[in-house]
Amino acid sequence: MIKDIIIAIDGHSGCGKSTTAKMLAESLNYSYLDSGAMYRSVTLFFNRKKIKYSNIDDIKILLNQIKISFKYVNGVQNTFLNGENVEKEIRNEKITNLVSKYSSIPEIRKYLVQSQKELGKNKKIVVEGRDITTVVFPNAEIKIFMTADIDVRAKRRFKDMKANNPEITFSDVMKNLEDRDIKDSNRKDSPLTYAEGAILIDTSDLEIDDQVKKIIDIIEQKFS
Ligand code: C5P
Repeated sequence: MIKDIIIAIDGHSGCGKSTTAKMLAESLNYSYLDSGAMYRSVTLFFNRKKIKYSNIDDIKILLNQIKISFKYVNGVQNTFLNGENVEKEIRNEKITNLVSKYSSIPEIRKYLVQSQKELGKNKKIVVEGRDITTVVFPNAEIKIFMTADIDVRAKRRFKDMKANNPEITFSDVMKNLEDRDIKDSNRKDSPLTYAEGAILIDTSDLEIDDQVKKIIDIIEQKFS
């Protein structure tokens, strides 16, 4: 039995972070926070209102109209934007291609980081994203940095996305991953980077079950 802790996971797009974090949370009976879904929801909100990422003045005015929540639907955690289930829409190609632009805006990050901190205040949570080990929960008891070879990530992501969008090509997916890697790692505010004290997991040759087991082993080693 482990004590109440925060497990923070950061890493590149498409390396299996979300699936690993979800399964880990389930097996520990912890909550799961998908911070990427929050950035995706904000992107959807402004895209629907036709407010470009360069229009910082309107973004600042409207930000506090955005309320994001999570609820289970048929056993799966879904994302709600101002009460509307947007789980499917936030994963589409348009939002996936735009999200890194909006997520580089400091005002948006400040707004979301605040609510992420609030959601984690009682611990017993697995949180995944790009700045969780560095900015949101730098003092998390367990910090993981996940990555994988870009070809492996693109193959996995292509398989997932093709199920919902038969038109998508492998090179579209590869281009989006490369683009997000560059933008997320080079933005001025909270770039994706390896945090002090984080443990690196390369998932290129791992199955999801092995990824979860690796983290459980790390937790047991630390707390036994
Ligand atoms: O994890 P996911 O791929 O859904 O994240 C979508 C995007 O949201 C990332 O590419 C990144 O631009 C942004 N993000 C972020 N900080 C986080 C989580 C996600 O900037 N903590």
